[in-house]
Amino acid sequence: MRVRARRSVSWVAGALAAGVLVVGAGGCSGRGAGEGEGGGPPKATAPTPDDTTPDRTTPGQGAAAAPGADARGVPLKAYATWGLAGPLAPAPAKPDRTPVLKPSGPPVVFDRVRTNDKVVFLTFDDGAEKDPQFVRMVGELKLPISMFLTDSVAGSDYGHFARLRDAGGGAIQNHTTGHANLRTLPYEGQRKQICDQQDRLEARFGTRPTLFRPPYGNYNDDTVRAAGSCGVKALVLWRESMQIHDMRYAEGDRLRSGDIVLAHFRGPDELKGSTITEMTARMLRRIQDQGFTVARLEDYL
Ligand SMILES: [Zn+2]
Repeated sequence: MRVRARRSVSWVAGALAAGVLVVGAGGCSGRGAGEGEGGGPPKATAPTPDDTTPDRTTPGQGAAAAPGADARGVPLKAYATWGLAGPLAPAPAKPDRTPVLKPSGPPVVFDRVRTNDKVVFLTFDDGAEKDPQFVRMVGELKLPISMFLTDSVAGSDYGHFARLRDAGGGAIQNHTTGHANLRTLPYEGQRKQICDQQDRLEARFGTRPTLFRPPYGNYNDDTVRAAGSCGVKALVLWRESMQIHDMRYAEGDRLRSGDIVLAHFRGPDELKGSTITEMTARMLRRIQDQGFTVARLEDYL
């Protein structure tokens, strides 16, 4: 059993210990092992290029229902277009939350948010796949995704991720410059991986990230200290990881309120032929089927 830094807020300590297996199985190195689901892929037909204007409103926050649209302001036809059976419920306009981030002191570490709202949070890592269809999906469905970007793979086209952020109202966060296993590096090496990426993302996107995800979920006390030294307020792990067809759970086979769900920017080469939009549709159906909707992680911190 790996030992993890325990600088977390108290209520997540047990959850982190329980989540070690999920982290190991579903982290950045996971390449779809264990796929075996019988259900066929969704028929996520590419939309026609007529209604492509990105919507910059915050999803689910007071959007007025227009004719033919749901309470999130999403046209009902968009759900069918992207392979969902029905609308996603709106996230509460006023989140039920206990502040997670601290104004000072070392970063906190968490893998879920304490809330009674029936919401989970979508996070996407790395940044290798840059499928324009995913920008359209995120915009049309108003998906507020948190993107943890690694410079060595995402940096070839940061514009793609700016478009994703603008389309869905999500946020850009830090996932190192080179996707190193930080536990193998001394403090200064870790600091370079984390803090150089803080600088690059701030220079490119205009906002300094507050959240950091260590590659593979691997970190130690030096990681927390290094991240805190350059403005990171929290290390964000996860409770569930989305594979090609299956969602892997930290405990049992159910989502819980406030869970953080990990996915990756991956394309057909890594998804056995599936696209990122098909994988995301499957993930959203798992979430819907269990009575949850998606919310913006940063709004709950
Ligand atoms: Zn990663």
